[in-house]
Amino acid sequence: MKNQKLLLIFAVCAILCTACQSDQTEEPIQEEGKVNPEILAKLDAAYFDISRAFETTFMGEEGVAVEDMFFTYAQIDELAPVDSQAKHYRTTNLVTSLPRTITISVDPDLGTLGSNALDETIRMYNTLGLQISFTRVAFGQRGRNKADIEVTEFFEFESGGFITLGRAAGFPTRKGDPAKGFGINSRWFQLSIAPNVNELAGTMAHEIGHCIGLRHTDYQTRQSCGQNVNEGSAGVGAIYIPGTPTGSDFNSIMQSCGPAIDFNNNDVTALNVLY
Ligand SMILES: [Zn+2]
Repeated sequence: MKNQKLLLIFAVCAILCTACQSDQTEEPIQEEGKVNPEILAKLDAAYFDISRAFETTFMGEEGVAVEDMFFTYAQIDELAPVDSQAKHYRTTNLVTSLPRTITISVDPDLGTLGSNALDETIRMYNTLGLQISFTRVAFGQRGRNKADIEVTEFFEFESGGFITLGRAAGFPTRKGDPAKGFGINSRWFQLSIAPNVNELAGTMAHEIGHCIGLRHTDYQTRQSCGQNVNEGSAGVGAIYIPGTPTGSDFNSIMQSCGPAIDFNNNDVTALNVLY
């Protein structure tokens, strides 16, 4: 029974951390690079959990990994403050030129599971009948024939029982394009809590949510990660989406920490408001 219990806790933590990094220990995670205090202050002001932020290179660019996001230094400068108190949030920039079909591709290194999960994620979004839809294209090589959103593979060990399952390369650009992609941590596939297709699809849907402008529904408190950060009035590129709840929304696919494998009604509302 002990094993089972450990497994459960680990599973909960890992799914909980679709996104996130909640950390009860001070164990450092892959200290590839310490982040300059000025940069940390900007991320902190934007309500990101900076306790595990580190400098790294992701999808060919240098920047900072924080929660399940990666930002270049230019992107960090773009995180502008906005007040907000409610639960579903979008970033300042959204995808424009609607209606629009967004191409998406997945790194073959993520295998059949990655491929099947992406198909399921595309189905989840396209079923909603939004003004943005997704279509799968072949994974580009050496920078050519890139899809609008590329799903890449990265490998990063868990730390203190928590693992970052995915990492989005920021939010939509000022030009109105989606973020260029996100990564899936293939370390997850090696663990006893390796995902099934639906769990991976849910994580991909979460990361696509960031790429098209959704922030975490509990970005102010990170309650879903078992944290209880004080809410403040300073926000950041976090604009309340009308029609979404102002109370807790534990089933949202955009919680900092899952578990969510499909959109709930509020996610659908939020996506319909935006697109
Ligand atoms: Zn996230």
